[in-house]
Amino acid sequence: MDMNSNLPQDIVRAIKSVVGDGPLALHEPRFNGNEWVYLKECLDSTFVSSVGKFVDRFEDDLANFTGAKSAVAVVNGTAALHVALRLAGVEAGDEVLLPALTFIATANAVAYCQATPHFVDSAERSLGMDSVSLREYLSTFTEICNGHCVNRKTGRIIRAMVPMHTFGHPVDISALLAIAHDFHLQLIEDAAESLGSTVGGQHTGTFGLMGTLSFNGNKTITAGGGGAILTNDVELGKRAKHITTTAKLPHRWNFVHDEVGFNYRLPNLNAALGCAQLEQLPGFLRDKRCLFGQYQAAFANVAGVHLVAEPTGSSSNYWLQTLLLDAAHAGQRDAVLAATNDSGLMTRPIWALMNRLPMYANSPSAPLPVAESLEQRVINIPSSSGLGTVAP
Ligand SMILES: *Cc1c(COP(=O)(O)O)cnc(C)c1O
Repeated sequence: MDMNSNLPQDIVRAIKSVVGDGPLALHEPRFNGNEWVYLKECLDSTFVSSVGKFVDRFEDDLANFTGAKSAVAVVNGTAALHVALRLAGVEAGDEVLLPALTFIATANAVAYCQATPHFVDSAERSLGMDSVSLREYLSTFTEICNGHCVNRKTGRIIRAMVPMHTFGHPVDISALLAIAHDFHLQLIEDAAESLGSTVGGQHTGTFGLMGTLSFNGNKTITAGGGGAILTNDVELGKRAKHITTTAKLPHRWNFVHDEVGFNYRLPNLNAALGCAQLEQLPGFLRDKRCLFGQYQAAFANVAGVHLVAEPTGSSSNYWLQTLLLDAAHAGQRDAVLAATNDSGLMTRPIWALMNRLPMYANSPSAPLPVAESLEQRVINIPSSSGLGTVAP
């Protein structure tokens, strides 16, 4: 393979040919809809906090958009994961499988349950949990005892797995569901990055027992901050609503709570913003797909790198556009990050692997050859919806 020694400057040129000279952020929100109208309605009504019509509407709109039977709005995506894991039965001393290559929230939510994250490898094609190596790993290192999957090395129950749809690209969910079934694991999808992404027409986050979304400021749509729990189990949805709203029993005036609940509810102000953003999501998704096509064309002739495309059979929301350096060029990642950021194009590497972080350094881990390689080769480039369509 020929080395492209001009790779950093070639990448700067290719990006600028699509989005212009910048300066450009990695991902910016866009407020071109009913944001002002709905926020004003909140202020005029005085319902800015934990009660108000936009919370109910946001939940209904999310259920409609995703096809989930139930959607529960919460204060952020991390809280959504925490509650989903708890409702899936994750207890102190359990282990939970998750990709080493994910945002910190996935691992932290496991730790909040006093459980231990157990890291597994990723697939190059989807950037998410690799089903092939996972099945082999579980077959070798676990056994089923009393209906539970037990880690033979630690003796602990592996209770659940949390695949994550990286940058919006769906994981191989059907193979992972089969593994969850065969090894008696609950499957919770971290769909924080994949609102609008589908597999075979079905929305990510609706395949497992529960799925979680995030509406942080950098996500495809934002509520300022916020998250949601999706589920097709209506009873579980009711449980999620109950424990995220202090576990208060409905009553006209009494304050009676029947368990230790959480104050994880989404304020009405945030829900109002979320409703306005959700109305614009179809347009954002079209723009992002269009931007991907333009970047893909611009990079077609740049040797040593390619754009990550949605896996076959799935539709990605293309939240963050992703460059993948060829293995031979992995050593140039930092030079590419420097050249792009120096020229006003905000780019970022992927997360450090979770098992490298001090608080998770002693957590169990499968071999991670692909994740370790991807960590050195992934670069996200400017991805805001609306970019590219008006570029020279
Ligand atoms: C954004 C994100 C979350 C949740 O983030 P919050 O900021 O708590 O809403 C969880 N997992 C992944 C992979 C994310 O990207």
